[in-house]
Amino acid sequence: MAGHGAQAASFVEEAGTAPLPLRWVEELINTHSLVYRVDLLRTPDDLLDWLRARDLVPAGANCAPTEFDQVIRAREGLRALVAANNAAAAPAPVRLADDTPDGVVTQMRDELADIARAAPLVLDVASTPPRLVPLAPATVGGAVAALLGMVAESVASGTWSRLKVCRKPGCRWAYYDHSRNRARTWCSMETCGNQAKAHAFRQRRTVG
Ligand SMILES: [Zn+2]
Repeated sequence: MAGHGAQAASFVEEAGTAPLPLRWVEELINTHSLVYRVDLLRTPDDLLDWLRARDLVPAGANCAPTEFDQVIRAREGLRALVAANNAAAAPAPVRLADDTPDGVVTQMRDELADIARAAPLVLDVASTPPRLVPLAPATVGGAVAALLGMVAESVASGTWSRLKVCRKPGCRWAYYDHSRNRARTWCSMETCGNQAKAHAFRQRRTVG
């Protein structure tokens, strides 16, 4: 269970996570580990705990099953959206030999667009600087809107393109690229990076 979490913690220290509030988007995506097939958000209560711990909903907020479903779909939509930051174009899903899911489901971006239309943001001009806030705060739907507002804020501040998901199908772990040239491709060179290189080496030997 602790697998990807513990592994993530070790390279998070080395590489660092996204700055707040973009980190909440990164952490939401990583509540679902494809590699270890662990999902930290299995029930509406799991989700409420997760949102409350990040002040995205107040204590006493409720979560209907439809709202839970919406957040899970938004999470995979955000994974697909972030995947475009680590490829020339959003990667097409591929079928893996062992039937592991790729982790990027590109049509989830369309579903995210539908969710975004139902999660309105307004410009709060009373705050300095003005910022996008949910029209309906203190609800799970408001938390989804807040997360989308963080995407907009991150695009405006220039941090968005550094948030990536691992290029390895079947991994797609989210990480923040702190490298100077913004060229980090894998969640971890020790795991996915070396595996990809070894695979490419074998391919070349087979072909050659
Ligand atoms: Zn990876």
